[in-house]
Amino acid sequence: MAQQDDVFKKIVSHAKEYGFVFPSSEIYDGLSAVYDYGQNGVELKNNIKRYWWDAMTLLHENIVGIDSAIFMHPTIWKASGHVDAFNDPLIDNRDSKKRYRADVLIEEQIAKIDDKIAKEVAKAAKRFGDSFDEAQFRATNARVLEHQAHRDALHQRFSDAMNANNLDELRQIIIDEEIVCPISGTKNWTEVRQFNLMFKTEMGSTADGSMTVYLRPETAQGIFVNYLNVQKTGRMRIPFGIAQIGKAFRNEIVARQFIFRMREFEQMEMQFFVRPGEELRWFNQWKEWRLKWHKALGLGNEKYRYHDHEKLAHYANAATDIEFRMPFGFKEVEGIHSRTNFDLSQHEKYSGKKIQYFDPELNESYVPYVIETSIGVDRMFLSVLCSSYEEEQLPGGDTRVVLHLPAPLAPVKCAVLPLVRKDGLPEKAREIVDELKFDFATHYEEKDAIGKRYRRQDAIGTPFCITVDHQTLEDNTVTLRERDSMEQTRVNIADLHALIHDRVSLASLLRKLR
Ligand code: ATP
Repeated sequence: MAQQDDVFKKIVSHAKEYGFVFPSSEIYDGLSAVYDYGQNGVELKNNIKRYWWDAMTLLHENIVGIDSAIFMHPTIWKASGHVDAFNDPLIDNRDSKKRYRADVLIEEQIAKIDDKIAKEVAKAAKRFGDSFDEAQFRATNARVLEHQAHRDALHQRFSDAMNANNLDELRQIIIDEEIVCPISGTKNWTEVRQFNLMFKTEMGSTADGSMTVYLRPETAQGIFVNYLNVQKTGRMRIPFGIAQIGKAFRNEIVARQFIFRMREFEQMEMQFFVRPGEELRWFNQWKEWRLKWHKALGLGNEKYRYHDHEKLAHYANAATDIEFRMPFGFKEVEGIHSRTNFDLSQHEKYSGKKIQYFDPELNESYVPYVIETSIGVDRMFLSVLCSSYEEEQLPGGDTRVVLHLPAPLAPVKCAVLPLVRKDGLPEKAREIVDELKFDFATHYEEKDAIGKRYRRQDAIGTPFCITVDHQTLEDNTVTLRERDSMEQTRVNIADLHALIHDRVSLASLLRKLR
């Protein structure tokens, strides 16, 4: 774990050093859980968003996008339930004065027991080799059974407490499980309290009579309140979806782990409207499609898992998370929820407007059911960054830091490097840049030795370096160096475009989703 922490620290400082992510307001000592994206970060982030947007709107004829405002009528948040129930249970440790989410402390405790079980299984697998029967081992090993029974009981107690909103019971679980504060190491806990996560502000001057408005805690409601607009003007027929990318704001109780949990972040959400009764089929379909989207990036299939929700929101009839193995464990990156007709019905009720769909095939009107896919851009960014970072040992004892970013997401696709800063090589290199820059994010670099320039490009994940040397002036060939293998091949300038395009185009990634 300490080693993983170490790697994570290195990733965070790499992100800063190479212009991916900066702490916000840094010259004023920063602002907690708010971050800025730098020159490379913004490109990577835009590429992630483009991948999602195109996968939704280009690959599905029946999905269209919108961009709704961050400010919305405050009654929307009453109708959606956020004013009354968008709370997290918080608990303080009296000795360290640190604040925690009570539910997260318990979830981490459950994860610890899972780890113990996994360790027992791994140990036995090693001991028994090929003859190991995991199912039998899990069903019969005394230690595993004991851990499992503890885990199941704890889990049950936790879901019951969460479902009943029983704050005293949450605290009691923390006491009974002897969970200690990681900072002070003590069990000196306060009561558990509910805390609303929405930021409030005032709209209009007080003389006019101002109104309390909220910074949206999710983008989804902007889609729901535009359902009728889009359905009518787009002449959409069910099933259809509306996609949106935009900022969301949550006054998170505990904001740690870099950009994993921020107070201002970005979401990519898609609400898919279906016939009542067909929602679970579509839920399963979207579960499958969304995992495929993640896996197509090639970050490693073993890094993903589904986590089905035990505690369903009162309006949901199915929910799952897609979790990704971050350096600090498996964590939610995306949620897929079957939200029934809750949101649209609530908006019908609160607005007094009829929000229904006339289904010509059934010859009846109904409030559509909704499957939601909701993914955080920043968490996605973090998962890409963490799994791409490598300190690679090279033959000869040298090391290099390289970001093995999926090529279509890389901020810079190719760098053109004249071997020396004379003899007409810079001019030739500029000519190449002037051709490639219309299709690819292309860098030109002439400072420092060529090896140093390669390393700088490796560190930001540039898939290709193109080196212009004296031979280039004679035969129009250059060296094309590939980031991961570091292989160098001599290619004709005329072939560069096709070679690069083949690897870096977003279309090649999208084709994998067919
Ligand atoms: P968590 O349990 O981690 O707080 P959540 O279940 O509240 O997340 P959702 O409301 O389902 O999250 O939001 C959908 C997605 O938005 C999440 O999967 C995550 O990727 C992203 N997200 C939510 N809260 C944050 C945050 N504070 N910072 C960054 N991304 C976030």
